[in-house]
Amino acid sequence: MSKPHIVVIGSGIIGIATAYYLAKNHGQNRITLVDRGQPMAFTSAQSGENYRNWWPHPTMVAFTNRSIDLLEEIARDSGNRINMSRRGYALATRKAEIDELVEQLHDGLGDSAEHLLRFRGGATANSYAAFDNPDWECAPIGVDIVQHAGLIKERFPSFDPDVRAVVHIRRGGDISGQQLGMYMLDYLKEAGLTRITGEVNNIDYCDGFRIEIASDKDNSSLAADRIVNAAGPFADRIAAMLGVVLPVRHTFQQKIAFEDAKGAIPRALPFSIDLDDQLVDWTDEDREMLLEEPNLSWLAEKMPGAIHCRPDGGDGGKWVKLGWAYNENPAVATWEPQLDEAFPDIVLRGAARLNPALKAYYGRLPRAMHHYGGWYTMTEENWPLIGPMGPDGAFMNCAHSGFGTMVACAAGELCAATIAKAPLPDIAGQLSMLRYADKELMLRLHKANKGIL
Ligand SMILES: Cc1cc2nc3c(=O)[nH]c(=O)nc-3n(C[C@H](O)[C@H](O)[C@H](O)COP(=O)(O)OP(=O)(O)OC[C@H]3O[C@@H](n4cnc5c(N)ncnc54)[C@H](O)[C@@H]3O)c2cc1C
Repeated sequence: MSKPHIVVIGSGIIGIATAYYLAKNHGQNRITLVDRGQPMAFTSAQSGENYRNWWPHPTMVAFTNRSIDLLEEIARDSGNRINMSRRGYALATRKAEIDELVEQLHDGLGDSAEHLLRFRGGATANSYAAFDNPDWECAPIGVDIVQHAGLIKERFPSFDPDVRAVVHIRRGGDISGQQLGMYMLDYLKEAGLTRITGEVNNIDYCDGFRIEIASDKDNSSLAADRIVNAAGPFADRIAAMLGVVLPVRHTFQQKIAFEDAKGAIPRALPFSIDLDDQLVDWTDEDREMLLEEPNLSWLAEKMPGAIHCRPDGGDGGKWVKLGWAYNENPAVATWEPQLDEAFPDIVLRGAARLNPALKAYYGRLPRAMHHYGGWYTMTEENWPLIGPMGPDGAFMNCAHSGFGTMVACAAGELCAATIAKAPLPDIAGQLSMLRYADKELMLRLHKANKGIL
């Protein structure tokens, strides 16, 4: 019997990973990837490309751990074509009392917390393992909770001296998301993948699917036995074509990257997050001006934590990346980026609180700075949607918010297994629409902190 024709809408990292695991794990050889543009060119091109297994719930810990396992497999098989590195995530706070944070780690790690959490204060301070080596194969797992002032100063010399605790998540780092996508596409080419460039603008369902596609050249239609909605920020529009309403919203988030010619950020710094709220370091004059503008006064008031910074381009490189996902205003997703020209100054001043040497760039960000951004498409609880979507034969792999690069492998694997009716991991139901029937889980998720990247 011939294999079903599976059409994956969207060739960002999620659509590509779904197609990859359909071919690799289930021998599917009739796959078509449809995208309005080039593969990996939309949200997936804007990713900070960071990964970590830090989440406040065991389901997401298991999901990201699985994805990191698969990333490691690809790194191993490809001679590390995906440039996987592992210096971890360093979460910094000026608070001496971090019980809430430790409780969250316990919630996420469950029974394994006992052997995975290592408290580095007092006498145990000196045994804190180094992170000078970016090689993922040498790095420890678990979490180091450092509350020893001397050790923080020694290990994180660029940090604000007021930092009292650093929670160092060790299974974290960065990869090249673009190389990951290209590696999978190379495999798919060999497996007979078809690619179509064009915009899906209608889907009819009647004993199979008929997909209408518009391109620069013509309009065409394509028949499919199964479809996968991996349309990123437009996943809700694709779902609506089949009468399905997805519980997602979109917020536009930005980053900057620039050459750190002044050497403000040590090259061996892990991906670092300032957890504390802050008043941005404006001049008195700027602050007054902002307060007078009703649309801008929020910038002079308390801003949320979670600003992040990391060196980019490896040990021999010079670039740094700064990001701050403070925008909580949902909007209709657009193809054009919604960049705010004030963002570079805001993120620089915010990031200088944790790494004060960045102040050297106030008013002097290099002209070649790269300012970019994209949509976080997310559910209220900030968990993805992977599984069946409405009519028989329709599936979705979407709502990957600020974590789609790191979960792509596990999300692709899970979606492919669902389509192939293969055995699924225990967490599958919770990552699909089925979770909304579990009132207790939903209540817990709404109370918990949202993922911050
Ligand atoms: C600023 C920023 C930083 C981020 N940093 C990180 C990070 O550090 N780590 C991490 O893991 N994640 C990060 N993310 C999140 C990650 O980038 C996304 O979750 C991921 O790229 C989503 O991939 P996707 O394939 O679902 O979406 P996309 O990459 O947007 O792909 C969807 C594709 O669908 C196509 N499409 C949509 N509608 C149609 C249609 N009607 N017809 C044809 N084609 C269509 C689009 O052209 C697009 O190519 C970040 C995101 C942003 C915005």
